[in-house]
Amino acid sequence: MIDAHLHLDQYDLNKLDFYIDMWRNHGIKGVVAVATDLQSSYKTLELKHKYPTFIRAAIGHHPEAPPLTSKDLAELLNLIKKEKNHLSGIGEIGLPTYQKESLYEVYGEELFCEQLEVLLEIAKSVDLPVALHAVHEESEKVLLLLKKHEIKKAHFHWLKASNQNVQDIISCGYYVSVTPEVCYRERDQRLVRMIPMDQLLIETDGPWKHGGHFQHQDTTPLFLKDIVDSLSNIFSISTVNINEILMANTKRLYD
Ligand SMILES: [Zn+2]
Repeated sequence: MIDAHLHLDQYDLNKLDFYIDMWRNHGIKGVVAVATDLQSSYKTLELKHKYPTFIRAAIGHHPEAPPLTSKDLAELLNLIKKEKNHLSGIGEIGLPTYQKESLYEVYGEELFCEQLEVLLEIAKSVDLPVALHAVHEESEKVLLLLKKHEIKKAHFHWLKASNQNVQDIISCGYYVSVTPEVCYRERDQRLVRMIPMDQLLIETDGPWKHGGHFQHQDTTPLFLKDIVDSLSNIFSISTVNINEILMANTKRLYD
């Protein structure tokens, strides 16, 4: 199992040796570690150099936060060019949904779209997939930008979208991931049935906390086993087969 989206730099880095050992011993083959800002991009790259076989690194700037200053944006773009051979993706990037009212009031919607377009262009130029935070109405807007920039490789992480939008995303060949919510939330169980098996990924978005029977537990890639069990029930396919398919998907997109 590979966790296709988590924030490894937000874990207790002093305990990471111990965690990664334990996760490996429980069948976790690797993680796609995504960044949230410039500092987190540096940290994520440092982790990639420390655990090169376990980590696939993506760097970027999370959209639910103030946009990058032009100086930081230039630095991020340079970092991407310089480190492209150590990177597996650009992310997490996208458009804000949860904080959009306050963010757009201060910075204006235009600036978020502009920065996203710049990051999509650099992803295309270094031939790396984008790890997207694009949910609800914003997933439609982001999809339009992907088409405008002719982006071929994209991953909509923890997608929440209308049926029509999900269909559009799938018909473009993009990937969609589900989180531990698929174990206990009907919305996600409905979503996952719409995703062709070869475009599906699994993730925890750790250390983000989840509900259901994960409530009060620290999120780790070990939750992937529960996701695979749920998918096995939903699709009536053995967990071994599901694992093989999901691993192949993650590698096809991020390797
Ligand atoms: Zn995330």
